[in-house]
Amino acid sequence: MNDLIIVSLIIILLLIWLLVFKYIKQKTIDYKAYIDSKNSELLSTNKSLEDRVVQRTEELKEATDQLEELERTDALTDIHNRYSIMKILDTEVDRAKRYGNPLSVFMYDIDHFKRLNDTHGYRAGDDILYNLTKVVKDSLRDIDIVGRYGGEEFLVIMPSTILSDAIDVAQRVCETVSNHKFSQIKQLTISIGLVELGKDETMDTLFTRADRLLYKSKESGRNRVSF
Ligand code: GH3
Ligand code: MG
Ligand code: MG
Repeated sequence: MNDLIIVSLIIILLLIWLLVFKYIKQKTIDYKAYIDSKNSELLSTNKSLEDRVVQRTEELKEATDQLEELERTDALTDIHNRYSIMKILDTEVDRAKRYGNPLSVFMYDIDHFKRLNDTHGYRAGDDILYNLTKVVKDSLRDIDIVGRYGGEEFLVIMPSTILSDAIDVAQRVCETVSNHKFSQIKQLTISIGLVELGKDETMDTLFTRADRLLYKSKESGRNRVSF
């Protein structure tokens, strides 16, 4: 009788242990599944965070590029401003010297622009500055770089260009402008001072020579190229 009780007790204990074991096993499985699901949740959150960081970095780069572009651009004519064109000139002078390449540069200034402003108003003058820039850009070559030095004075940099070719370009620009029909005015002309970089010349002396030649064009009757 005692044996029967002991065996029954053992069986009951075994059953209880089995149930507890099954319960713990189930709980372990549930917990593992819970951990797995949390893990994949974390992974996907991490991935979307990484994607957002990449997107934000791209947006920031785009905004920085736009800001730098604005910093380099003249607001009225949409070409290089003085700071930018002088920086390019500096770089091009260095490059030309290092590789022994030719480099030509010309400055142009609108003739009697003050008179035009006085007659037609400053707004019309602004429109002329904008439209003139388009006309000049269209008659330049792809390699030429134009910038607004200040007021109604502009600088054109012609990399890898010898004086004789630069004369052709400058004369074409001068003629194209004087033949162009700008609205409101009968004729608009520009005066040009053109130079080729000398062997031991600095950016400053190159610039000064171009400026002097520009005023030579003014003094000798305007609407012309001096070189
Ligand atoms: P010159 O043929 O000797 O160059 O005579 P000019 O009248 O063109 O030269 P001057 O230096 O006497 O006058 C330049 C004029 O350019 C005066 C100034 O008001 C005008 N100007 C400079 N910047 C701007 C601008 O951004 N917009 C307008 N509308 N006019 C400008
Ligand atoms: Mg002028
Ligand atoms: Mg001027």
